[in-house]
Amino acid sequence: MTAIETAIGEPDWRRAADLIHGAGTLALACHVSPDGDALGSMLGLGLALARSGKKVVASFGDRLLEVPRLLRFLPGQELLVEVAAYPAEPDLMITFDASTMERLGLLAPHAGKAGELLVIDHHVSNTRFGTVHLVDPSAASTTMVVEELIHRLGLPVDRSVATCLYAGLVTDTGSFRHSVTTPAAHAMAGRLLETGLRPEELARELWDRSPYAYLRVLGAALGRATLEPDVAGGHGLVWTFVSRADRAAEGLPYDEVEGVIDVVRRVDEAEVAVVLKEDDDGGWNVSTRSKGVVDVARACAALGGGGHARAAGFSSALPVADTMAALRPLLTPPVPPHPHRTEP
Ligand code: AMP
Ligand code: MN
Ligand code: MN
Repeated sequence: MTAIETAIGEPDWRRAADLIHGAGTLALACHVSPDGDALGSMLGLGLALARSGKKVVASFGDRLLEVPRLLRFLPGQELLVEVAAYPAEPDLMITFDASTMERLGLLAPHAGKAGELLVIDHHVSNTRFGTVHLVDPSAASTTMVVEELIHRLGLPVDRSVATCLYAGLVTDTGSFRHSVTTPAAHAMAGRLLETGLRPEELARELWDRSPYAYLRVLGAALGRATLEPDVAGGHGLVWTFVSRADRAAEGLPYDEVEGVIDVVRRVDEAEVAVVLKEDDDGGWNVSTRSKGVVDVARACAALGGGGHARAAGFSSALPVADTMAALRPLLTPPVPPHPHRTEP
């Protein structure tokens, strides 16, 4: 990949590389409730840097530092430290896949006090909350930006680093199915496979296994899925929820229900799919997906969240019915400009 193909300017690449070369300890952080891209981009760069002799700590600002079961196969987890052990005022802090400071959760104060804050991301909605930004909205995953940074730092991508980067690439492209799947994304996959990583092993860990309890909870969630054909400007909405009680009944941890949205969003009759997931503290995380007409990032941003046009989310403390009542009117297709419109 050359700089011309990215949205990131040469001065930013140089500044990022200079900061990393000059730093003593590097403090890495990805967004809360980390997905494959968040952890993959952070641990991929972390491993590459650690192997070059840098002192690296990595973390994410959830109340518990617990890597989701699906991602426990990722190399580099020895770099993870509890929030309590994270530098309070890091000289250089690097964030991954986080579009806002708030997405760092308990590590947001550390970012606020960092001497330099390097923000690595690919969200259009990124608020540029750092001192240096490697933000490329045309990149399919944050790991694409990280791969280029590793090359520019002159560091090798071995099989462990490649496994981390590949995990982010396949999660955020939905296994190369989503619209973000560019020739550059496939080219990167090719380079990573050259290191000998086994794509079928990653795929099995990420998508093709779950405890029996997941089937039970999925069944309950699908059983109450509701189709509302008139919502989203008549393009249709399908939605359901997974409560804490549903999971408790089967002994299923919260991080196992990430995949429910991928079943719900199949529905032909709905442009928008929504799954509300209650965490162990009684807060709700809402996943939204669209097929390209409705911009769900805009809808979620209006409710304090964010994401991408076709995949976004937000948090809610309200009961399910109230959250849906707030969301429904925001799921509007863009209104085409009227050529002869006059103001009333
Ligand atoms: P998810 O539904 O959790 O897979 O998230 C889909 C997309 O929305 C991802 O790009 C997330 O980074 C983004 N997202 C999810 N929840 C939030 C939130 N509370 N605030 C901002 N962005 C979010
Ligand atoms: Mn993410
Ligand atoms: Mn991402």
